[in-house]
Amino acid sequence: MFHYWKIAIEILIFWYVIYMILLFVKGTRSEQLLKGLVIVAIIFVGTQQLGLDAINWAITRLFPISVIALLIIFQPELRRGLAQLGRFGKHQENIEAIDEITKAAANLAKKRIGALIVIERETGLKSYSETGTAVDAEVSAFLITSIFLPQSPLHDGAVIIERGRLTAAACVLPLPQEEKDLPKYMGMRHRAAVGISEETDAICVVVSEETGYISVASDGKLKYELDEDSLNKILKNIFYRTQKKHSRIQVVNIDTKRD
Ligand code: ATP
Ligand code: MG
Repeated sequence: MFHYWKIAIEILIFWYVIYMILLFVKGTRSEQLLKGLVIVAIIFVGTQQLGLDAINWAITRLFPISVIALLIIFQPELRRGLAQLGRFGKHQENIEAIDEITKAAANLAKKRIGALIVIERETGLKSYSETGTAVDAEVSAFLITSIFLPQSPLHDGAVIIERGRLTAAACVLPLPQEEKDLPKYMGMRHRAAVGISEETDAICVVVSEETGYISVASDGKLKYELDEDSLNKILKNIFYRTQKKHSRIQVVNIDTKRD
């Protein structure tokens, strides 16, 4: 009887580890690598079954070399992965960044400086961060504020926040498929925020340069004219919900008046 339990526990652990690896690589350059490895594995089994000994021999010989090469090439990702062990995953890291994002938005709004801040949820945002300049820095209100200062070479476009890191700036976002019924003062920046939240499950914070108003786009909809407090509550609400969906950790839900 104990034997079956052992098998069940082992299957569960394997399943969990594979699931975590998939979650971790999703939307990063390791995703392509993983697909490549699966293809090589399929070719390897195929050549073995078909008795193609020469190809099989070559793959067997190349394997140890490629493991070392992969360890070197993907060293930053591996380090990040190990650092993440023991944390609650990317949602926890995004939650930690929310206070800084809110502070930055409030600061920029006060100064009437336009900003566009995209926060990743499940869907990888690699294809959008690639349109801009790679940054990869810890999220801080100071950093976000400096990026959007009109004199900054990176102020034009959006910043992207993934796994609690500011990964890119000056990124181009997609526009919505259909014309949206938005207030008159809203132009391309607000449309781009709605567009990215429609195409992906990301959340996008917008600060209007024209009015100093703060808005948040999620699921193709825009909540606008928010103050610092309500922005913070809305973001935390969304990310605690996302985190809850992916873990069993109980988190107190925060109600939002403007929800
Ligand atoms: P604001 O209220 O701040 O004027 P807006 O919605 O009226 O915002 P625009 O004035 O049309 O927007 O655009 C302002 C800035 O928004 C642009 O200079 C650019 O930095 C940014 N922006 C516009 N479209 C995009 C896009 N598709 N992706 C990323 N950034 C964009
Ligand atoms: Mg405008």
